[in-house]
Amino acid sequence: MIEVKECYLCQISDFDILLNQKYENLHYVKLLNSQLEYLDRKWLRCKNCDLVHQSPSLTDQEIDKLYKNNRSSDFRNSETPDEYFERITSIPNDKSENYLRTQRFKKYISSSAKTILDIGCGGGVFLYTFSKYFKNFKLFGIEASPQFASMAKSKFDVKIFNNFFKGDEINFKPDVITLLHVLEHITNPNLFLKNIHSLMSSDSLLIIEVPDSKDFETLDKSHLRFSSPHIFFYSLKSATILLEKNGFKIIDSERFLSLRKRNNLCLYVKKGNND
Ligand SMILES: [Zn+2]
Repeated sequence: MIEVKECYLCQISDFDILLNQKYENLHYVKLLNSQLEYLDRKWLRCKNCDLVHQSPSLTDQEIDKLYKNNRSSDFRNSETPDEYFERITSIPNDKSENYLRTQRFKKYISSSAKTILDIGCGGGVFLYTFSKYFKNFKLFGIEASPQFASMAKSKFDVKIFNNFFKGDEINFKPDVITLLHVLEHITNPNLFLKNIHSLMSSDSLLIIEVPDSKDFETLDKSHLRFSSPHIFFYSLKSATILLEKNGFKIIDSERFLSLRKRNNLCLYVKKGNND
């Protein structure tokens, strides 16, 4: 893990400390190294651009280990991957985050769109729900965890690439790209977004959903959201700076409370005019 010394976006070292925490009982940290159980950590907000950093933060090597090898232990108690898929996909519409997402996305998705790529698709539960309301779409997903990737493949007609996204696995320009609760886990979002940018045509729509850093104002300090392997928390301001810097333009944005009362930020993004 590495200590954050300066802001990822503006390289300035001027932070507010939003939260001080102990590493006690942090599932994912113990998976990486049992010696790290009691290390202190902080959530730091850049006074200039608003980007919130977790410090110390996970390195790429640690993230690789976490998502490739240890995700199977995310399945709680005796729940198998199959049982997880059945449980999530049988939630009634009014209680389903994936159904509500599909409804929110509807008005932004062009009627001529036919392909969707979900980066970090997990077990494919979003794509599965999406396919029920957007018939005839070709479905593609990228997922680093072998357990999740093979589960998605076994459940419905979807093409899954089992790796960390680099961009070169896809040889076409998807009409819709979704990035749902993924960007906050990425250590180098500039590079990551650059690779997404080169995958997009001028008509492609990128939909990004991330936790909103407003959570630090509304959720209890002991909330699970602050015990997750997030590298960053974004606000509309910091996400806008990041996206514009990488050649995107935000066509619309929404801030909303999830069913579990977490603050989320959703951004509808296209390539910028200069590209
Ligand atoms: Zn900054």
